Amino acid sequence: MYTDTAHVDPPSILQSAFSGEAPPLLAHKALRRDEFWREIPGYSNVSEADFRSHLFQQKHAVTNVRQLRDTLGQLVEDSFFEDLSAGMHHAPMALRISPYLLSLIDWSNPLGDPIRTQFIPLRSQQQPDHPMLRFDSLNEQGDSPVPGLTHRYRDKALFLPIDSCPVYCRFCTRSYAVGTDTDLVGEKLKLHASLARWDRAFEYIESRPELEDIVVSGGDTFNLKADHLQLIGERLLKMPNIRRLRFATKGLCVMPQKILSDNAWFDALTRVVELSRKLHKDVVVHTHFNHPNEITGITHDAMNRMTERGIVVRCQSVLQRTVNTEPSIMQLHVRRLSYINIHPYYVYFHDMVPGVEDLRTTLQTGLDLEKHVRGATAGFNTPAFVVDTMGGGGKRDAHSHELYNRKTGIAVFTSPSVRPGKKFLYFDPLASLDEEHQWRWSQPLERRAMMDEALDAVNA
Ligand code: SF4
Repeated sequence: MYTDTAHVDPPSILQSAFSGEAPPLLAHKALRRDEFWREIPGYSNVSEADFRSHLFQQKHAVTNVRQLRDTLGQLVEDSFFEDLSAGMHHAPMALRISPYLLSLIDWSNPLGDPIRTQFIPLRSQQQPDHPMLRFDSLNEQGDSPVPGLTHRYRDKALFLPIDSCPVYCRFCTRSYAVGTDTDLVGEKLKLHASLARWDRAFEYIESRPELEDIVVSGGDTFNLKADHLQLIGERLLKMPNIRRLRFATKGLCVMPQKILSDNAWFDALTRVVELSRKLHKDVVVHTHFNHPNEITGITHDAMNRMTERGIVVRCQSVLQRTVNTEPSIMQLHVRRLSYINIHPYYVYFHDMVPGVEDLRTTLQTGLDLEKHVRGATAGFNTPAFVVDTMGGGGKRDAHSHELYNRKTGIAVFTSPSVRPGKKFLYFDPLASLDEEHQWRWSQPLERRAMMDEALDAVNA
């Protein structure tokens, strides 16, 4: 059962992750195989068989502060729950976290834990938004010919068949539509699973011969019913113009149990992949891990099952302050993903979305980090560090900025093949700037002047 070659006990894993030093040579192979969930009072009597079932994980997902308090008991102080209750009022995403993720949090240090940081908002850590932040910052709705379908790149479209996920990430780019309504966002755009809505998307895709590549995302494809997953996959693959499909799911990270125990869903995915081979087309899974602590022996078992079925998995990570900006953490992350056969594909700079300014980093942070990651493993397992430009310019290599003023925190990108002639701005977090420039950002006229100056410099 416990087959990983270099077992290290859990405290050592956490220490190596936070030490700031280069990770030990074989640390990426040290995956947790202990019954870590039994340290949580609410799960102390949960058997391994139950914990490895997706039904247990789904049924016991924590969705409010009272449930979290009941589950954690005396593990944390009352002030933590007060901090969380206050934080929820300023959060773009509702609370939803699986027992699996909850059990991977180091509850002796919840304020500093990288998994807690991503899923449980605390008022004491939230920061004022940058004035240029906005919902749907990537302008997905502006590029939508039908609801739930974004067509921005010439040959590729993003299809959103569902608006729910097995967990809710604080930093979700699609907080304008994903999950239940929140105080901060108000009423969200609804993209519920609907055959009628999907038909409109299919008709559009079929009518555009230049479209070859469809990303099926959400929400999360983990939440699609098995027959719906198969229907979507087969319908798209049978279109003559479509050559490639990507199913996007964070599920492998937050609930790998589903791959191990939801045979109907996993078989449906397998059938779609097999059909793609018969048709000489390509179907892969895109997933989303951000920190090496998210990868355990259960993830490895799930990925082994994916590998046995020949399903290729790539990872898109999001750069987040205090989560994965340390070189040792990102190196370990990339090597651990590679070890379990997940290709690290992208590291995104944090999108400019409201409510999570505490998680954003400067452009320089990512540029420096990339130098440490490149060379840590093979090139094909080295992610590209990209900025998904605000306003719909698409993804740009972070190094390809036309200008980067570290005083004002403004970077300018161009995107000749997506939006010829247009310029796109990215902004460092205000807290990273000196006092003078923080003041300038607080003044609307100064703000405009700084942006005009950056744009003029690129035009010159
Ligand atoms: S799983 Fe993806 S779509 Fe769902 S909340 Fe997280 S980032 Fe957003």
